[in-house]
Amino acid sequence: MSARPDMPYWWEEAEPAAASTGALPARADVVVVGGGYAGMGAAIPLARAGREVVVLERDRPGDGASSRNGGITSGNIRHSFSSLISKYGLEKAKAIYAEGVAAREELYAFIEAEKLDCDFQPTGRFTGAMRPEILDTMKREMALLHEHIGVEPVIVERLDMQDEIGSDLYHGGVRRADIGGVHPAKLHRALRGVAEAAGAAIHSGVGVTNIRRTGTTFEVTTPKGKIQAAHVIVATNGYTDKGLPWLRRRLVPVISEMIATEPLSPNLMQKLMPKRQMHGETRQLGYYYRPSPDGTRILLGGRRYASDTAEARERLRQGLIEIFPELDKVQLTHHWGGFVAFPMDQLPKLTVQDGIVYAAGFCGSGVVWARWMGMKAAALVLERDEPSAFYSDAFRRIPFYNGKPWFLPVMMNWYKLKDRLTGTMK
Ligand SMILES: Cc1cc2nc3c(=O)[nH]c(=O)nc-3n(C[C@H](O)[C@H](O)[C@H](O)COP(=O)(O)OP(=O)(O)OC[C@H]3O[C@@H](n4cnc5c(N)ncnc54)[C@H](O)[C@@H]3O)c2cc1C
Repeated sequence: MSARPDMPYWWEEAEPAAASTGALPARADVVVVGGGYAGMGAAIPLARAGREVVVLERDRPGDGASSRNGGITSGNIRHSFSSLISKYGLEKAKAIYAEGVAAREELYAFIEAEKLDCDFQPTGRFTGAMRPEILDTMKREMALLHEHIGVEPVIVERLDMQDEIGSDLYHGGVRRADIGGVHPAKLHRALRGVAEAAGAAIHSGVGVTNIRRTGTTFEVTTPKGKIQAAHVIVATNGYTDKGLPWLRRRLVPVISEMIATEPLSPNLMQKLMPKRQMHGETRQLGYYYRPSPDGTRILLGGRRYASDTAEARERLRQGLIEIFPELDKVQLTHHWGGFVAFPMDQLPKLTVQDGIVYAAGFCGSGVVWARWMGMKAAALVLERDEPSAFYSDAFRRIPFYNGKPWFLPVMMNWYKLKDRLTGTMK
């Protein structure tokens, strides 16, 4: 293991750096709470539009999930397209999925236009089916997505799988060429650079403890003083604390964690990951995995349900070996985690409550969604006509819940059982 046992692999090259610890201004046009992708996504267009933007981050900017994630640009929605149609009707389902496609394309265009140094690799992603009948479900889903959204998924039968992955675990799957990978911590660092260059003032170590509406403005309280702001955007997602009680009662924080292998030989990497692409699978509590940007290691992640760290690492190692039995002796160099956040209906949220704009609830898929929702939050402040399928959706309080997810073990066990019985299709 690395010298710092819980250090993300990504921090070897791009550890988050502290920002200004100087005095806070007395006033700002917009205070953005939280310095991850969503915070930067909001700060950039606001600063570029000439607003005085102050980003307040409790730790170092990027210390949250935005420098810890798998870097897979899935833009995933937890509900299948057909289940969204049943629940909300075809038009709403189309709007949600189409926004995912638009958000991913916009991220790629921004990376290119701004020349963001983030090891962007448009490699594609292969999702493995845990059972033959799940492949049939995937085929139906992909046909629907192609018809209504225009995405071009490729169905891969089991016999053709060796071109995608060196594993016998799956019964075929789906390849999406439009999904790729980034170095997540470098992406965050680059976005922060753009925000600072545009004039946003970013502060480290400033946790917001209260936001109070005072007529048409807001008083934002921190241990370092108060700021009067015309607008406030809250972008704290899985790290939302007691200073933001309205949001805290609506989000369930869940640990997602990853391991990194030691460098593998080029021959072995070629055999296991011939396309050096991103990977997922159909289990609810399944794994996501990918090559490191330099193509030498495998990084694998999943949701945590063991409280003991060593046990949690071992579960991920067993998951890796289940997929790639050749790796049973491989050494792990890194094991780390971070918090993702789920609203009750498991859809991303963009909401205004008592004048405060909230962008949160990305259900573990914020590489695309968080920055996008931050931008949409900025558009609301700037009164730009940039509609979102997610704006004004109900953001319900979770019953009998004040931020401590006592029900999580029960839910995890339910998903585990479902995965075992059905090989679940999301
Ligand atoms: C291990 C792991 C793997 C993942 N893999 C993927 C993936 O492959 N693809 C994908 O799309 N997504 C992935 N995700 C999810 C993705 O990282 C998140 O959805 C995304 O980073 C959320 O960004 P954010 O800006 O909303 O929140 P964060 O980056 O979590 O930032 C929130 C910030 O708010 C700050 N904060 C909290 N409270 C306060 C306060 N009171 N005052 C000031 N600041 C405060 C926190 O310190 C934190 O820095 C993964 C997440 C993890 C943890």
